[in-house]
Amino acid sequence: MVTVLQISFVLALIVLIILFVFEIRVKEISFLPDDYKVLLNDYVKFYRQLDDDQKKKFEDRVQDFLTAVRITGVNAEVEDMDRLFIAAAAIIPVHNFPDWQYVNLHEVLVYPGTFNQDFDQAGWDRYISGMVGTGPMQHMMIISKWQLRQGFINGADTYNTAIHEFAHLIDKMDGTMDGVPEIILERRFIPRWVGLINTTIQQMKSYGSDIDIYGATNHAEFFAVTSEYFFERPDLLKANHPELFEMLERIYRTGLN
Ligand SMILES: [Zn+2]
Repeated sequence: MVTVLQISFVLALIVLIILFVFEIRVKEISFLPDDYKVLLNDYVKFYRQLDDDQKKKFEDRVQDFLTAVRITGVNAEVEDMDRLFIAAAAIIPVHNFPDWQYVNLHEVLVYPGTFNQDFDQAGWDRYISGMVGTGPMQHMMIISKWQLRQGFINGADTYNTAIHEFAHLIDKMDGTMDGVPEIILERRFIPRWVGLINTTIQQMKSYGSDIDIYGATNHAEFFAVTSEYFFERPDLLKANHPELFEMLERIYRTGLN
């Protein structure tokens, strides 16, 4: 005679097997689209200038990122290109930190170009382009699909919203989002970096600048805005703000290549 206990046991076993198989399947999925190398070459300037060996490392880390972080569309369809751009923006700033993991990020929500007015917009960057979560939204990033794509499709300007948000996460890794990424910046350079932030913000406010004025909001925004500029147009930043370029090169260790 089959008892209720035995039926329950068999059912539980079946559920466990299903979960196990599903988990294996999920892990085996390759998150990279077939044409990812073409997409990276076409749209990601940073990737394009790497040598073959470095390109391979970049690709592997993009893959790892997409395995570790969930990307979810909220009223927006997330396409291969979007996933690839988010992962590229994550890896670009930490390319020279081979062991880097975004332990403070579990999920990226992709919104369309505009947001519901009812959404709590406190903490939004440039109103609606992106944010890194705090409080109940801890470990989350929100980004607008339109801004995400513009950041990579338009390579001539100094903007890249996704890189901006990842710069915030890097800054936040030491516990405070204060424009000083202590986890990657050597301690002895901190006073010089803070001094440079203050003088540059002062200049921006007094005389205007080719650095987006949003960067003068506070130190954290300054770091995120100048990080965008640094990775989007390093040539221009070097020409227009050599000291800033040198410090960001030190922070992101890009001068070592
Ligand atoms: Zn910001």
